This record gives sequence, structure tokens and C-alpha cells, in this order.
Amino acid sequence: MKYFILFGPPGAGKGTQATAMVENYHLCHLSTGELLRSEIAAGTQLGLQAKALIEAGSLVPDEVVEGMIESKFKTVKGVEGFLLDGFPRTIAQAQALDEMLGRSGEEVTSVVSIMIPDEMIMERIRHRATIEGRADDAKEEVVANRIRTYHDKTEPLVDFYRKAGKYNEIDGVGTIEEVRERIFTLMNKF
Ligand code: AMP
Repeated sequence: MKYFILFGPPGAGKGTQATAMVENYHLCHLSTGELLRSEIAAGTQLGLQAKALIEAGSLVPDEVVEGMIESKFKTVKGVEGFLLDGFPRTIAQAQALDEMLGRSGEEVTSVVSIMIPDEMIMERIRHRATIEGRADDAKEEVVANRIRTYHDKTEPLVDFYRKAGKYNEIDGVGTIEEVRERIFTLMNKF
């Protein structure tokens, strides 16, 4: 099985590119943000716990997302691998992922990191807010907190995966098709 991690700041275009990636490489798309939003929509206990944190632009506890990912690894069949989108987001989550995969003799295949300059992040999220209607895109202070959380807690993963020799960066500036081509060129190597 292949385990790709789709990495990048909020608004980098991860969700947009994920659709083409899963189709082309027969992967299961696992977006922890989307999984959490469906828990909220379904009104589950987990959704209730996560709602306030998401709406504040903070991270939900590591154990919550780790549990969601592990249960998908166990139950999803008939794919050639997984595309992890929005997970891991902390060093602790990355270590938990290594352990999870290690137990079945598997490992992360590659990190596909879509990078855009800081000044484009706000602009992209403002644009997405008019299309998708996500509550956590609507308020500037919430978006600012997500960007801060990304820099503080998630960006250290760049070094973590660089040291593991698994980090690959893609320039996320350009049309959707241009960025997709760059991603496919990289993924074809695995
Ligand atoms: P996303 O759709 O990836 O932008 O995620 C939306 C929100 O869900 C984030 O701002 C977090 O509050 C929460 N979330 C998603 N993935 C994770 C994760 N791996 N760890 C903690 N919180 C997460």
C-alpha cells in the first residue's frame, strides 16, 4: 500500500488537488477536516467535542484524529493506498502515524507539500469562503489563528519528513492544471 501525505498551509489547494490525485492513483482520500465536518453535521458526540475547537481555528486533540485515521486504515479495502489530507498536523501525530503503519510493516511513501507564499493564503481562503461556505473560513480572526497554528505546530513537520528523506515540495502558484501536472510528475516516481 502507498501512503501519501498531502501537506501545505490552509488555502494551498490541497482539497482541490486531492480529487485528481485519488482518481489517478486509485487512492482513498482521507481528509481529517472533512471527516470532522461530517461528524459535526451528523451531531455525534465526537462532532460536538470538535465543533468549538474547529470554529476557533484550533486543533482538535491528537488522539481524536489518530483514532479516526486508524479506523479507516482498518476498514477501507480495494484501494492501492491512501492520500492523507490535513493529517498529520503535529509531530505527535506524525509519530503516531509511523507507529500505526510500522505495526503492519508499512511506512509513509512520500509527503507531497504544496507551498504558496504567506500573502496568498488569506486571499485564497477569502475566495474559498465565497464558494464553500465553511464556518472556519468566514471570520478573519479564525483564519489568522489557523495560519498561526499551521506555523507553530504543523510547519515543524517539514523538518521531520525532510530528515526521513520523504519530503517533496511542489510550487502551488499557478493554475489548477499546472500544479496538478507538477504533483503527478512527482507521484509517478513512487
Ligand atoms: P481542514 O479541513 O484540514 O482545514 O481542517 C479544518 C479544521 O479541522 C482544522 O482547523 C482543525 O480544527 C481540525 N483538524 C483537521 N485535521 C486535524 C488534525 N490532523 N489535527 C487536529 N485538528 C484537525
